[in-house]
Parts: sequence; structure tokens; C-alpha cells
Amino acid sequence: MKVFKFGGASLKTPERIRHVASIIQSHAENNLLVVVSAMGKTTDLLETLVAPAASAQAVNTALATLKKYHYDIIEALFQDTAGVYAAVNAIVADIEKEITLGDGDQRYDQVVSKGELMSSVIVHHYLLSQNLHSHWLDARTCIATDSSFREGKVDWAKTATNVQPLKAVLQKHIVITQGFVGRTPDGLTTTLGREGSDYSAAIFASSLDAASLTIWKDVAGVMNADPKRFPSPIVFEELPYKEAAEMTYYGANVIHPKTIKPLANKNIPLLVKNFDDPSLPGTRIHACTVENLPPLIVFKDHQCLISCKVTDYTFISEEQLGVIFHALSTLDIRINLMQNSAISFSFCIDFRESKVVKLIGMLQQNFEVYYNTGLTLITIKNYDAASFERYRQHPGVMLEQSSRSTLQVLVK
Ligand code: ASP
Repeated sequence: MKVFKFGGASLKTPERIRHVASIIQSHAENNLLVVVSAMGKTTDLLETLVAPAASAQAVNTALATLKKYHYDIIEALFQDTAGVYAAVNAIVADIEKEITLGDGDQRYDQVVSKGELMSSVIVHHYLLSQNLHSHWLDARTCIATDSSFREGKVDWAKTATNVQPLKAVLQKHIVITQGFVGRTPDGLTTTLGREGSDYSAAIFASSLDAASLTIWKDVAGVMNADPKRFPSPIVFEELPYKEAAEMTYYGANVIHPKTIKPLANKNIPLLVKNFDDPSLPGTRIHACTVENLPPLIVFKDHQCLISCKVTDYTFISEEQLGVIFHALSTLDIRINLMQNSAISFSFCIDFRESKVVKLIGMLQQNFEVYYNTGLTLITIKNYDAASFERYRQHPGVMLEQSSRSTLQVLVK
């Protein structure tokens, strides 16, 4: 069996949903499991419903926008709308109920997960209307997680057991399910982190021992640079798992960082294919060796540089480093680049305001703390002489580091 994943951009208009159906149809009548994201910017809209400071008016406006967006898609796609309206309205009623219940991350997950439910229901009904043997699956009955809301940790053993009955279903049907969602042992919904649908697809592929996972994107494949920043990047025909995993670590957002590992562990190839032109070869990420990879350039925006200085004319000690790392691990913050000097330790992290404010508060108990925000971390993996020089001389470099294969510069 195979797994396909379609993201929100591939599902944002009725035309695109028709195109999704045609890709599915040209592929198979069975043995295909399709993971879908929420349509367009639905997840952002759902986030506004649970924003801590959301006014009643903001909530009502967001709800109205959410309904109109999905209803317009339904009107454009279906002649007989009764079944799909009933299914979508049941989900809307749940949202309206759940935004009033509980608070914090738990409430977030109950509400924000609903975008994938709506989208999968619409795609499922559309495939049925095209006489395809679609079977709608609630992914939460398969993907078991712990109770870490907004960042559910997968229980792999339970998930592997949960997916077993699907094998029989897949013999006769195309299974349509949601990305991004899981379920706690208590039956509450969890989400797997923003953009987590790729990861969901990898979890299904791994648990079902799929022959491959195909992620359909609006790019020609995995490229050595972001096409929005570079006019003509190179599209890789194939990439080793390790190379692809490192790219995502440095911030390349073509695939969610957690996607590669479960596939690599089971040797399942990941195909990144172009949604608009499925005849393009795309990129195959699998166990292979590729000689002489070109320099790979990754820009990671919204970075923050924090420097901790000792105040008593001593040098930075291991004990003081311990204090810094303890604060970082308490707040679950990952360092993207770090450097120490005689009297200070500097590190670069993603700028998430509330976490950064907490971190600075903790560090100020022991250090003089300085910070800069709005920075970009540029990573050049497999650099050559030309790219090395070019990026070292980038204007506004605040921190720079290189190994034998990778150069990183943090710039204003
Ligand atoms: N809908 C979720 C998000 O926008 C998950 C995903 O699309 O991958 O983050």
C-alpha cells in the first residue's frame, strides 16, 4: 500500500480539490491511504478562536469566516449537498461547543484539530460523488499519543496495533484521513505541532509498512535553496535520508522535521512530488549515496540572539553553562547556534515571544543578559569556496561558525 499527503495549499479552492481527486483517481482504486491537512489557512483561523485575548466579536467573525469558506467550497463542488453539509455542520457544532469548554493547550487541541476533520469529510464526500470507493477514517482512532497537548508524543506500539484493521479496508477502498491529530489514552484530541500533517503521514506509512509516502507540494521537489529567495535553484532527483533530515533541522520547510526518521527506520522512500504537474519526477528521499551535492542554502527567519555575560570579572564556567542549559531545557527551547567567549555565552533560538521573555527572566537571575531579535540564520551545507566567501561577507553578520562541511551565519 501507499500513502499520499496533501497540504492546505493543495486543498484551498474547489478547483484544487478536484485536482486532488484526479491525482487520487489516476493512482488507484484501493491500497491508498490519503492524509489531508486543513483547507487553506483554516488552522490559523481556528487559532484565533482560542487565542487567549480573543474578544467575543473576533470569535464570531472568525466562526462566520470559517463557515462561509467551507460552505462556498461545498456549493462549488457538490450537486447533492445534504450528506456533506450534515457532516460538516456536526463538526462546526462541536467547535462551537468546545470553544466554551476548558482552557489552555487542551482546549486549543480540541478546537484547532477540527480543520482537518472538515477538510477530510469534504474530500471523502467529493470522492464518493466521483464514484470512487472512499472510506473516511478518524485518524484519532489510530494515532495514539500521550497527553502533551499541542505536541502530542506518539505511542508507536499502540498506533501499530490500532492501524491493523485498516489493512482489510485498504483492500477495497481508498482511505481518507486527517493529518495533525491524535488521541490521548483518556480519549481527548491532541495535535502533533503546527505543520504536523507530514509527520502524521509518516506515522501511517511506518505503522502500515507502506511501499512509499508521497507528499504533494507546490514546488517541483526538494531544492538546494528556497525558490522564493533564489531564482533558479537545483531540484534534487534523489537525496539520502540523512541529508534531508539535516536540511529540515536547519530550517528548510519543505518537509516537517519529524517526517524522515520513521520512514528511514523502515526504509520507506519519501517522494516529494509537484501537485500542479504530477508528470515531473520530483525528489526521491531514500537510502542512497549522492556524490558532490551542490551547496544547500537554508534561511531561517525570526531568530533571536541572546548573550549571557558574567558580571564579576570571572570567566564563564561549566557550572554557569549548566544554569543556562537547565533554563533552556525547562522551557523546552532548542538552540540553533551557540558560541562562548571568556566572559559571555551567546546562543541563537527561534523567537517565540512568551518563551523568550520567560527565559530572559530566568537568566537575569545569574547574568547580565543582552538580546537581539528579527535575525536570520543562514546555513550553507556542503559549501564550496564561492558560497563560503559570499555568505561570510553577508552584510550584518552577528555570529559566524563553520565546520568542514557547514557554514552558519546569523545576520541582521
Ligand atoms: N493544519 C495544520 C497546520 O496548518 C497541520 C498541517 O497542515 O500540516 O499547521
